[in-house]
Amino acid sequence: MKRDPRTIMITLGRSLKLKCPVCGRASIVQRPFNLKHHCDSCGVIFKREEGFFVGAIMANVVATEVFILIIYFALLLLTTLSDRTTFIILFTVAVAFPLIFYHHSWSMWLAMDHLIEGLPQTNRQARQD
Ligand SMILES: [Zn+2]
Repeated sequence: MKRDPRTIMITLGRSLKLKCPVCGRASIVQRPFNLKHHCDSCGVIFKREEGFFVGAIMANVVATEVFILIIYFALLLLTTLSDRTTFIILFTVAVAFPLIFYHHSWSMWLAMDHLIEGLPQTNRQARQD
């Protein structure tokens, strides 16, 4: 019931907007490059046990590699740039993309965890959708 296509689309939509994957009402970001501990609205925990962040880092690394490959093939097929220029562009992408994608890698990882396992609740009494 929890994983019907509509739920998955809603959860992914929330993740793109950096909102809580469970309720979609509160942002997951405390300040740039810093995640909230839990959702202000429904109380699910965003920062779980030690090591949970590894998944978010992995999502960021994989997304960066895929993006670099796409840019590389696009440059190769659509332009006549020199190897040196291509390398400079790819290097810039490799440095900038993980920073730009940082929050989204977290939100995607949280969304996946929500869909597969369900995020844990804080102890306080929380509302549910
Ligand atoms: Zn929430």
